[in-house]
Formats: sequence, structure tokens, C-alpha cells
Amino acid sequence: MAARILIVEDEAGLITTLRDRLRKQGYIVSVARDAESALEATAKHSFDLILLDLMLPGQSGLAVCEKLRKGGSNTPILMLTARRQTRDKVAGLKAGGDDYLTKPFHMTELLARIEALLRRPSNLSGAPVEHYQFGKVEINVRRTEVLRSGKVVPLSAKEFQLLHYFLEHRDATLSREELLRDVWGYQELPSTRTVDVHVAWLRQKLEQDPKNPQYILTVVGFGYKFAG
Ligand code: CA
Repeated sequence: MAARILIVEDEAGLITTLRDRLRKQGYIVSVARDAESALEATAKHSFDLILLDLMLPGQSGLAVCEKLRKGGSNTPILMLTARRQTRDKVAGLKAGGDDYLTKPFHMTELLARIEALLRRPSNLSGAPVEHYQFGKVEINVRRTEVLRSGKVVPLSAKEFQLLHYFLEHRDATLSREELLRDVWGYQELPSTRTVDVHVAWLRQKLEQDPKNPQYILTVVGFGYKFAG
């Protein structure tokens, strides 16, 4: 599904550039030229991301952001502004913005930030999920505790993070590279074999029959998938 992006911006030239580029990227794009139309648009439609200019005629972008957050919206907001002061950045993030880019910016950087915000896992309530359950296994995320048939299963930090990532992406096929990037991070430079080893350990600890896993499945030629 293509993500829906709302551009809130008053400079005609920039609107055209942004709209064309984002559409070319495959996004569904709407435009609001001031705070009032932005609030109207968000009340009527749901968006996956809002690109919000802070300097708008009438009410500022900050006011828009505050109103959206007060109204319970947790749509990711990427703020744009010509101003460079960190004061504005702090105010923007305090008002509920998720990220901040100063003009002029490179389109590639903007696209990268948009992608990053869209990838961020979210759920409708806006609160992180704290409990998961599958088969006889129960997970308490806050306590980083895993129980199997009521008994504590000791997991290493990485095993827990990997399991948590699987649970947050149930039914999605995840490549070894994606798991390495999001669970291990680039800095450690482990090999994709690391993922296989940790998956094997998790299966050993959590699956009824580790050789015929029911939950942590191998997707041949691609990676893994958590089913259930
Ligand atoms: Ca402006």
C-alpha cells in the first residue's frame, strides 16, 4: 500500500517540487497551504506522514503540530523550516514533531528521513505493545521476561531483541540483512550467519519441536517470518 503524505507548505515552488518528487516515489500526496486547511485535511483523511513547514501564513506549523497531538494524532510529523536556530528545533520537537529538516535540504535526505519515519513501527493506540503471546509462550516486554508454560526462559539480550522484532513484524517476511540492520545495527558488522545462529537458539528455547518450527519459520532464499 502506498503511503499517504500530507504536505503543509505555502511556497508554491517548493510545493510543486515536493509533490512531483514524492509522487514519482510512489506516495499518494495531498497539499495544504495553511494551518487551517492542514487541520481540515487531517480531520477528514488519515495520513501516514505529514511534512510540516513551520513558517505558514496565519497560524504557525508549531500550532498545527500541537493541535494534532492534543487531538490524539500520532501520525509522524517531519518539520521543515528555513530557520536554523536550535531553539526552533527544540520547540518543534517539544510540540510533538518526530524529525526536523532545515531548508534548503537535499531531496535525497528528505526522502531518506521520510522512509525512516514511515518504517517506524506504530500501533493505533500510540503506546508500545508490552505483552505478546504465542502458543505456550508469553512475553513481557517491559520486564524483558519470557515465560514458556509459566516457566522463565532465559534469553540473551540479542535473542530477546530478535524475538521482539519478530513479534512487532508478525507475518512479514524479514530478510537476514534487515534483521541485522534493525536488531544488531550496522556498527557491529556481524555476518548474516549470526542471524541464523540466534534464530536457532530462539527455536531451541521456544519451539515445541525446534526442527519443525511452528512460529519462527524459514522463508527459503529470503530470510525468516514469524507466524502465529
Ligand atoms: Ca513557509
